[in-house]
Amino acid sequence: MTNNFSNIDNTIDKNLEFVKVKKELSDDSNFKYTEFLNIKKPSYFLTYINIVTIYLIFLTFLFINTHLYNSYNSFYFKIIFFILNSFCVGLAIHNIQQALHVGLHYELHKNKKINDCITYFLGLLTGVDVKQARIIHMKHHIRHAEEDDPENSYLYPMTLLKIIKFFSGISIAEYCFKIDQKTSIQNENFENKNKKILKKILVFFTFSRFLSITLHLLIFLYLYKKSNLLFALSWVYGFLTFFPFFASLLNILEHGEEKLKRKSDQKTNRAINRLFDTNFFSKYIFAPFGAHKHAIHHWDPTVHHTIMDSVENFLLKTQVGNCIKNRKTTLFKTLKEIF
Ligand SMILES: [Zn+2]
Ligand SMILES: [Zn+2]
Repeated sequence: MTNNFSNIDNTIDKNLEFVKVKKELSDDSNFKYTEFLNIKKPSYFLTYINIVTIYLIFLTFLFINTHLYNSYNSFYFKIIFFILNSFCVGLAIHNIQQALHVGLHYELHKNKKINDCITYFLGLLTGVDVKQARIIHMKHHIRHAEEDDPENSYLYPMTLLKIIKFFSGISIAEYCFKIDQKTSIQNENFENKNKKILKKILVFFTFSRFLSITLHLLIFLYLYKKSNLLFALSWVYGFLTFFPFFASLLNILEHGEEKLKRKSDQKTNRAINRLFDTNFFSKYIFAPFGAHKHAIHHWDPTVHHTIMDSVENFLLKTQVGNCIKNRKTTLFKTLKEIF
């Protein structure tokens, strides 16, 4: 039994490695991990409160920003409020996207159909087709650290060029253009270029995306009526640039290789997972819905996001306690090590 844990710190981040030993895990008093999970009940109510709070704060900020934008006539102030509003839009949608992520794992309701209805509703604002997102995200869990992981931002450093691509809208255009490849099970080689483009268009314009575009268009028109074209465009800019930037940044912080290792021959080419400190910023602002404990989510995707902190505390007392200790860090420390 000891053997299974002798090399666990080196193998645990590989897909399914944790699952292989999960039944043997127990704390100092021989209390099993699986029994612990059975008595720890997830709180869906807390999740709903969190989601509703995000929408309410988002609407409040939108209201304040519109008011501020309309109150100042100076061009420079208008530019500042344009950027501020884009930032708020991007951050709020990034938060909703994290709620959508747990929906992809059926963590929003016990009943899978109700879970998917809530996830579908969240996807309208984030522009995500739930069916496609689930395929892409499950591939991320299985192909973690491999070149064909469709959520592979972390394989490439966040360079100045990459940042320019995000804030010029090139990155989101590239992402949308590749959705057909990311969702396909096999690599299809179309000889006919027109067929290839037609497939890309058909994969992108699903019914939920049509609804999503309509919703965004209505918000755009509402902001245009309440203010002017530039302010309404700040919504579009926030959605197309800040939102994918925050998503990519989180992905890099969760899995990216440290700068020193990347540049030296210590480059590991292995799956990297981190456990961020629990504080208000990590738990509710930048890495919400359990994303601050992404390592545990990769090891055991059955762990509900509302019990992540207590699962981490329990695992600290088990045979994988060192794995937890070695992956504990903070968002800011990782940011410094990665860039
Ligand atoms: Zn996941
Ligand atoms: Zn991940």
